[in-house]
Amino acid sequence: MEPVGNIFDLKKYAIHDGPGIRTTVFFKGCPLDCWWCHNPECRNGDVSDGLPNRQMTLAEVMTEVAKDEIFYDQSGGGVTFSGGEPMTQIDFLDALLTACRARRFHTVVDTCGYASAEEFDRIYDRVDMFLYDLKIMDDKAHKKYMGLSNNLILENLTHLAARGNKVKIRIPIIPDITDNAANIDAIIQFLDSRKNVRDVSLLPYNLFGEDKFKRFSIPNRMGHLSTPTDADMAAIAGKFRESGFRVKIGG
Ligand code: SF4
Repeated sequence: MEPVGNIFDLKKYAIHDGPGIRTTVFFKGCPLDCWWCHNPECRNGDVSDGLPNRQMTLAEVMTEVAKDEIFYDQSGGGVTFSGGEPMTQIDFLDALLTACRARRFHTVVDTCGYASAEEFDRIYDRVDMFLYDLKIMDDKAHKKYMGLSNNLILENLTHLAARGNKVKIRIPIIPDITDNAANIDAIIQFLDSRKNVRDVSLLPYNLFGEDKFKRFSIPNRMGHLSTPTDADMAAIAGKFRESGFRVKIGG
């Protein structure tokens, strides 16, 4: 039977989800429950929840993705699997990565890191780059703001970093939650000994999630937050640069 996945969006001409011009395939379902989630309508993997989603076959996704092959070739782009959390549909992700490899499309997996080490090993050879989210180092705060411990996320990052240099870190900068000095220093300290990981993107909090909480009638536990200023972002970027990391602000 042909593989089928639950997809809630497919974005063309994406330029913040990896190198070059890309198509980003958004998987439905995520094990985490971040208070600030920018795609709250996709967290529930259940397709019958009435929120945006569609079931797509492998062939349907690949037909869409292949339409922009010329842009990938010209820009050094490719296909990004995001969500939600693409690792929650590991069989469908695996099938798509195999199909992309056959077409020689560059592949990125944008992950929160919450999956088994075996699942990361299963796909590792067909992934060109992992965009790996790191958010909060203090486990108690991690459980509070995301619902689960960060142990598995940190273990998987250590595991992937030991295998090679495919991992680039993404850190959402959420005012009063992830942006405090203790958290940023703890992230730098953790990454410092993972020498294969030297690229960090700092993603300033934006109001997309807040709008969606309203639009889809999903409870908003954070209330209204202001977005970080350019000076706030530059100060955090400076800390990473001083410690030898290549830093980008934005995706
Ligand atoms: S990991 Fe991403 S998709 Fe999952 S809840 Fe957090 S912000 Fe939302």
